[in-house]
Amino acid sequence: MSTSSSSTAQARGATSRRSGVGTGGPAVAGAPTSPVRKVPLRMAARRLTVLRVVDLSRSMRRVVLGGPELAGFVSDGPIDHFKLFFPDASGALVMPRLDEERWVNRDEPGLLYRDYTVRTFGVPALTHDAAVDELVVDLAVHDHGPAGRWAGQAAPGQELGTLGPRSTKAAPLDRDWYVLAGDETGLPGVLNWLDRLPEQAPVQVFLEVDGPADEVELSARAAMTVTWLHRNGAPAGSTSLLSDAVAAADFGARAAGESTGTGTGLGWVWAAAEASAVRAIRTHVTAERGLDRSSFAMTGFWRLGVENFDHHSPEA
Ligand SMILES: Cc1cc2nc3c(=O)[nH]c(=O)nc-3n(C[C@H](O)[C@H](O)[C@H](O)COP(=O)(O)OP(=O)(O)OC[C@H]3O[C@@H](n4cnc5c(N)ncnc54)[C@H](O)[C@@H]3O)c2cc1C
Repeated sequence: MSTSSSSTAQARGATSRRSGVGTGGPAVAGAPTSPVRKVPLRMAARRLTVLRVVDLSRSMRRVVLGGPELAGFVSDGPIDHFKLFFPDASGALVMPRLDEERWVNRDEPGLLYRDYTVRTFGVPALTHDAAVDELVVDLAVHDHGPAGRWAGQAAPGQELGTLGPRSTKAAPLDRDWYVLAGDETGLPGVLNWLDRLPEQAPVQVFLEVDGPADEVELSARAAMTVTWLHRNGAPAGSTSLLSDAVAAADFGARAAGESTGTGTGLGWVWAAAEASAVRAIRTHVTAERGLDRSSFAMTGFWRLGVENFDHHSPEA
């Protein structure tokens, strides 16, 4: 296993941002609750068509979805997620059915769904053709489950179902520093954060992938360091690369507010990856760094050996 590091400017000299943009106001030091604000959305099921597929890396494919049923889709936050419905083994796509926004066929045979992050929605990211909306999802390709396998064979003209998002979440864009960590499944969220954070915000990014061929190009920022962590053939979810790297990062103690090398003041740590890695990061930031839920949000996006892991479960 190895670590490669590419960095643009080191984080320093950034101005403190406390505008409350997207947050409803800055979080208060010591506040016990997360500052992520949810705005509930109308639940809807949609049958969408794959318009384009783009390889972002050896193991990450961008799938662009469209179609008339995209009308009314809403998503605005960096961590908004929804369910994708895939064809079953026979190739049939069983769609979710709603009764007054309540999902009623959750146990129907053939229903095959997984959670995904809304990467972008709206004006097409790739063609910039403002005439039609497009929904973009970045999917990890792997052989361990049906969604990972579907991503590997995705092609224009295929159909997927969607359900949600159930809410759009405004998250803090006004902090003095950011630490973002993810494996392949957290990478779309990291890209979303980077798209939204103010250009001068000091950001440290930690991304775990198998090797250099799995790295994705990140747009340059004024004050960002990016550390790619390589599993080098070790199975995804089997290493402590990501949690070790975050634990070794110089982001300092939020409560004390002293200079930490990534800036001073109130920070934000976001992580999404295999559940045990996320658990280790959560334990570290709370026990070792003294952060409370006003300063981080993190979720186990999948769990080694578990099919369709429920990210609302206590193990997440
Ligand atoms: C809120 C949320 C947002 C998410 N956003 C994204 C996203 O934008 N892009 C994305 O790619 N994923 C995302 N995920 C993760 C994705 O839902 C899971 O990886 C899902 O388990 C994949 O389904 P599957 O059918 O391939 O595997 P499953 O059938 O669920 O699991 C089968 C086996 O595969 C293993 N497995 C699952 N995922 C992986 C993986 N990535 N690598 C190696 N082994 C794996 C499991 O441990 C299990 O042993 C998100 C998850 C959540 C909860």
